[in-house]
Amino acid sequence: MRVALLGFLHESNTFHSVPTGYSDFARASLTCNAAMLARWRGAHHELGGMIAGCEETGMEIAGGMATFALPSGTVTEEAYEQLAKELLQALQQSLPVDGILVALHGATVSEKHRDADGEVLRRIRSMVGATLPIVATLDLHANISRAMAQHSTAMIAYRTNPHLDQFDRGREAALLLHKTLSGEVRPVQYLATPPMIIQLSRQYTGEGAAQRLYQDLDAVLQWPGVLSASIAMGFYYADVEEMGAAFVAVTDGDAELAQQAADWLATRAWQQRSQFTADLPDARHAVQSAMQSPRKPVVLMDIGDNIGGGSPADSTILLRELLAQNATNALVVLYDPDSVQQCLQAGIRNTVSLMVGAKTDTLHGTPVAIEGRVRTLSDGIFIEKQIRHGGWGGGDQGITAVVETAEQHTIVLTSQRMAPMSLEQLLSLGIHPEWKGILVVKGVNAPRAAYAPIAGEVLLAGTAGITCDDPAQFHYQHRRKPLFPLEADAQFTVTA
Ligand SMILES: [Zn+2]
Repeated sequence: MRVALLGFLHESNTFHSVPTGYSDFARASLTCNAAMLARWRGAHHELGGMIAGCEETGMEIAGGMATFALPSGTVTEEAYEQLAKELLQALQQSLPVDGILVALHGATVSEKHRDADGEVLRRIRSMVGATLPIVATLDLHANISRAMAQHSTAMIAYRTNPHLDQFDRGREAALLLHKTLSGEVRPVQYLATPPMIIQLSRQYTGEGAAQRLYQDLDAVLQWPGVLSASIAMGFYYADVEEMGAAFVAVTDGDAELAQQAADWLATRAWQQRSQFTADLPDARHAVQSAMQSPRKPVVLMDIGDNIGGGSPADSTILLRELLAQNATNALVVLYDPDSVQQCLQAGIRNTVSLMVGAKTDTLHGTPVAIEGRVRTLSDGIFIEKQIRHGGWGGGDQGITAVVETAEQHTIVLTSQRMAPMSLEQLLSLGIHPEWKGILVVKGVNAPRAAYAPIAGEVLLAGTAGITCDDPAQFHYQHRRKPLFPLEADAQFTVTA
């Protein structure tokens, strides 16, 4: 059995003012064939899991291509078309194949193709014909469209947030494809999309209603005839028609059972919909709570600047509040290449006066004046060996400067945006995060995998920004309507 392995992953925040270009993918990861296998074999990522599953079952990987970029703005049409072309070429060169494994995010948006994942699947399908099995993996934050369901044989999404089961889901996809090619099973899938949004701050699968959703999922996975089932909590920072929660069931040839299973999951979620809304403390109250907490270090999640959700990474709202309230010993990481240059010119051990942060747009505070000593200058490259959200295995935050202020604040200034998925981002700079009083972490759930083990307490700050927790703060043009909680009277009834 020969399979093609494909990957095209991007979480597109359509409210980010800076578009995502080809170079953002090329810089993060873009590999083909042997180089792709070398990049991803053994990685804690669905592509690593797919390779393992193929090798375990004796399926030959005929070739392919895989690319991703850090979550950021809408993908330019030029980049999208070029990447899609290269992906399709890699597939073409792998033919003939018996099946396809494809890793998608599910919330990719290009300037022209708002359902960019559905369009990629449509193009793959039209190249290989109607019957060739295509098994896709998706992020838990996918906005799943009808086109995605129509043009794939089966879809499998991550089941944990933070995403720690990426390898397992990739392997599951490969095993399902193997069973399909062996003639053991004949997958059919059904997609249910109740009109609801699950707020980011309620998406941590370790507690509350989100945890119960995945207990329901575990129950469905035990139903006879169910091959796989998935819940996509959705990504409401992408203004697309299919935005919102989605539920998928894959069964062995039983379309009715697939619908029954997906509808049951959707109905259970719908019944709890009010528990997926939240009202969080604002910056001032969140900083107050962090300063008063005896459980240090406090991890203060900056929800409005959630880099893993595609935000600018340079919000100063919490930094300004920390300074205003005379906090000490906090750590803040900001994307600010201009300030890094000034630190380079000053040199280590020298004093700098900087206006840091808030340079991407006007939605994330204003630049803040700081003065301090340049402690470290670094190449900004780090390696992560542990299982962490994203499965990237490390990162490149560009040339990085660490500035220490008189108030013992540690300000980390990076030349490239980097989501806080790994403590190595700080450890590689010689910083002991566990010695700080308050760690401002620009995320919500994803950083927990790295930060919870050293945190005295995790607090959520309901800051403003393009990853604000409250969907009512966004002006949508393309989303489906109604959607709870934006339309409180939205109705949902299953059609079965
Ligand atoms: Zn995600």
